[in-house]
Amino acid sequence: MSRYLTISLAILALAGCATQAEQVAAPVLTKEAVATQIGEKPTPTSPPTGQQWLYGSAEGTIASAQTYQAMAQFVRAKALNRAIKTQAVLADGSTPDAPRFDSCGTKPLAAVFDADETLIWNVGAMRFMAEQGKDFDPAIWNAWEKSGAGKALAMPGAIEALKTMRDAGVTIIANTNRTSANAKGTEDTLRAAGLGEFKHGETLFLMGDDVTGSSKDARRSTIAARYCVVALAGDQLGDFANAFNAKGISVADRKKLATHPAIAPLWGNGWFLFSNPVYGPSIRGGYDEIFSAETKWEPAP
Ligand SMILES: [Mg+2]
Repeated sequence: MSRYLTISLAILALAGCATQAEQVAAPVLTKEAVATQIGEKPTPTSPPTGQQWLYGSAEGTIASAQTYQAMAQFVRAKALNRAIKTQAVLADGSTPDAPRFDSCGTKPLAAVFDADETLIWNVGAMRFMAEQGKDFDPAIWNAWEKSGAGKALAMPGAIEALKTMRDAGVTIIANTNRTSANAKGTEDTLRAAGLGEFKHGETLFLMGDDVTGSSKDARRSTIAARYCVVALAGDQLGDFANAFNAKGISVADRKKLATHPAIAPLWGNGWFLFSNPVYGPSIRGGYDEIFSAETKWEPAP
């Protein structure tokens, strides 16, 4: 006899102590409800809300498409403007609250993108992990990096925007925390999604390319040494500066740093953020971190 059936019968037996009228009104126990009562995580019957929004909704598609359209117009205008440009990458040693941006000189233009949930939606892996009841599994993700080609989707608006930028003479570069050991799988995945050719070490930069781990700062610096980076795009703040990932930074301080007056004008104007309600360091915080005491409300009794 399964554990589920055993406990269901036990609950029904307990219900037998009630009057007949109460038994008629007793709620039907679903498998999920029983699993919750015995402390098991129920098998998900629908995707998490973040996945429903991002991958399924019209709103998620529009949010991506409108960011791509704005970015393509911005990058194209930059390419057509012959004025001397400055890097969109923070200069070495500068910070979001005291930024410096180097002059580009005569370097060729580039736009730098994160890959996951910026160029592509990882729908194959996300569905599989969600159906397993897992938020994230490193071993599954590693297999996905190797063999996910054809099962990831170009994000809405990406193919058109990349064409506009490339036609304007701008090199498209990906700087991602996918691992360098799986470089071929990522090149194949981006190509299969219709986003064109990315070559490791030239237009594809990966975690493991240097000794700084998941920080993308050094890779951004390497790219900016070769190119004039006119725009950065990502779904996590680490795609713009690693300072946003400072250990122990509070939800409020992270938001304050990201909207500091010194860099606030960059959002939508050199720095382009894509929505990701599915995963990442943005998804955290208790009630007292998310809401201020002044806005606490409850209905009158
Ligand atoms: Mg990403």
